[in-house]
Amino acid sequence: MNDKLLRLKKNSILRNMCAETSFLSDQLIQPIFISEKITDKKNIPGLGDNYVFNINDSFRQIENDLKNNCRNFLLFLIPSQKSEKDFNLDFQSKTINQIKKNFKDDIFLWSDVCLCSMTTHGHCCLFDEKQNIDNHKSLNALSKIAITYANAGVDGIAPSDMMDGRTSKIRLSLDENNHDLIPIMSYSSKFASNFYGPFREAADSSPSFGDRKHYQLDYRNKNDALRASKRCAEEGADLLMVKPGVYSLDLIQPINNLTGLMVGAYQVSGEYAGINLASEKNLLKLNEGLFESWHVMKRAGAQFIITYGARKSKELGFSVK
Ligand SMILES: [Zn+2]
Repeated sequence: MNDKLLRLKKNSILRNMCAETSFLSDQLIQPIFISEKITDKKNIPGLGDNYVFNINDSFRQIENDLKNNCRNFLLFLIPSQKSEKDFNLDFQSKTINQIKKNFKDDIFLWSDVCLCSMTTHGHCCLFDEKQNIDNHKSLNALSKIAITYANAGVDGIAPSDMMDGRTSKIRLSLDENNHDLIPIMSYSSKFASNFYGPFREAADSSPSFGDRKHYQLDYRNKNDALRASKRCAEEGADLLMVKPGVYSLDLIQPINNLTGLMVGAYQVSGEYAGINLASEKNLLKLNEGLFESWHVMKRAGAQFIITYGARKSKELGFSVK
């Protein structure tokens, strides 16, 4: 038998015809950071054309992104006031409200729900007086945030804290407050990873003591990662996610098989920065590196991808339909 893989690679029409994975710009989600305390947009080291914006500049960025077929956003809101327990959510509420009022259903607006940008200590949870995680109080705070964001008009909620039982608590709270149609995209298998550095800089969320290994997953453990996603599915998550995306390729299809739910991949800041910085040193071409990394996540079974390069989707040839 004359087995030739070259035969089906003759030109782009034939290669496109035979592409096992292809996807649309709406399957790419663009993170966007908005801070209450900054006046001029702030560079995020390693993340190229991603910035921390004030509300006005974020509007201009979203307008621009829309022209480039990018209309699916994941919002990270950074208030100037930090607290240990009583969170003032006025800035977050106002920002979501203004964005949705302005862009209406031209965009789909997910919001990250966590405590680390709001707490004085920078952890994703609240602590009791003995400095142990207070899961119960953390869930109450998280569900309050989710309801506030939903009331402000957000389209979807993305809890990233990794507390026990957060998905069911948030689902129940949303349902009780007439938000039963708001989907939850849960950070269901999120590892305590070394690749979150640029993000923490942007979100002003570095823990002031310890690390997040008490609540995020140990990257050595596959079974825990499957169990965490299975539990989020059972608690009512609509969409699941692995994070960091490229470093969790082995989990995407197994989670989908286990739960029957669609699984996305978050190409986290450190992963994105690796490609971006290599391109700045002329070691690879940014767009081609991104294109490959996204297709690899697709090949591994990712339904959608959260990436700091989503706004390049038109440039890279992704279509809306
Ligand atoms: Zn957090």
